[in-house]
Amino acid sequence: MVKLNVSKLNDFFAAIAAEEKLYIPVDSADGAAFRPYEAGMEMSKACNSTRSAKDFFFPQVENLVNFKVDHNKKSIEIIDNRTEAEDFVIFGVRACDMASFEILDRVYLSDPVDSYYKNRRDHGVIVTAACGRPQETCFCTAFGIDASNPAGDVTTWFVGDDVYFKANTEKGEALVAKVAAIGESAEEKPVEDFKAGVKFMMGRLPIKDIKLDKISARGLMENFNSPIWDDEFKTCLGCGTCTFVCPTCQCFDVREFKTNEGVIRFRCWDSCMYSDFTQMSHGNNRVSQKERFRQRFMHKLVYFPNNNEGIYGCVGCGRCLRSCPQSLNIVKVAKALGGKD
Ligand code: SF4
Ligand code: SF4
Repeated sequence: MVKLNVSKLNDFFAAIAAEEKLYIPVDSADGAAFRPYEAGMEMSKACNSTRSAKDFFFPQVENLVNFKVDHNKKSIEIIDNRTEAEDFVIFGVRACDMASFEILDRVYLSDPVDSYYKNRRDHGVIVTAACGRPQETCFCTAFGIDASNPAGDVTTWFVGDDVYFKANTEKGEALVAKVAAIGESAEEKPVEDFKAGVKFMMGRLPIKDIKLDKISARGLMENFNSPIWDDEFKTCLGCGTCTFVCPTCQCFDVREFKTNEGVIRFRCWDSCMYSDFTQMSHGNNRVSQKERFRQRFMHKLVYFPNNNEGIYGCVGCGRCLRSCPQSLNIVKVAKALGGKD
């Protein structure tokens, strides 16, 4: 383990940014947001970013392929416009958002592999930061996530005036070597004390104790047919905000538009809360907001764990709790389904 005085953090950032693109969370009008590092930038002290690090690997909109049409020759040229060959580093990802990659990887890296996502995963280095001040809306512990000891290529802990670094992967070791050049080797004790303090705080958060095993024990059809859905959805506006801020939501739509030269095919995030989601030629199987609302929460709390060795499709980041205009959220639903003491 190595440590660096916080006063030298910008030297470290500058050393990385000299070689590859570096993103750090900074304060913005919309809360903390990851931005490309520039000299003098100050890292946000917020608990977490408004939007998650998912955006770097699964952007909200991206062009997939261009079709260049030559009407005279009656030919179509297929142009692969992928550009994500650049290495990049994201600094300051929290434990919950790091855990979201296990969920996204299961979706995008299983056969057939999504090469757009994989390219970015291969080229991205994730430096996590242990939480020091969890918010009242945090409930990552319900999913077995340790906010004091996040995974990632490198883990960092901000303890007093120092930042402690530990490499977890080969990519991470190369990065920590840069810290070693300007920092010093460190004892683990201050970090262990810090972890114990964070665990103490996490144990006192108001929504730490959702009993997800009670939901799992009830079985798929019992949850699906639960009478709670008749009431819980009633104030949902179908705005999709909860899906767009969520680090684990992974649905997208593929569309095309015509240009002077041919056609561009792109994909963009979609939401199971929208009435035209999974629209088919015969219509839609989910005919009301109640069914769409149920789909979102059944997917995260029942379908995903059923198909993925018990891993839930939520990491307890609390973003949907903070952003739903109607104060609906996964905690309320989980508790209504019986997941409480
Ligand atoms: S649950 Fe809330 S954020 Fe999600 S679609 Fe309904 S109103 Fe919008
Ligand atoms: S469902 Fe809500 S709390 Fe869970 S990961 Fe998504 S935004 Fe975070």
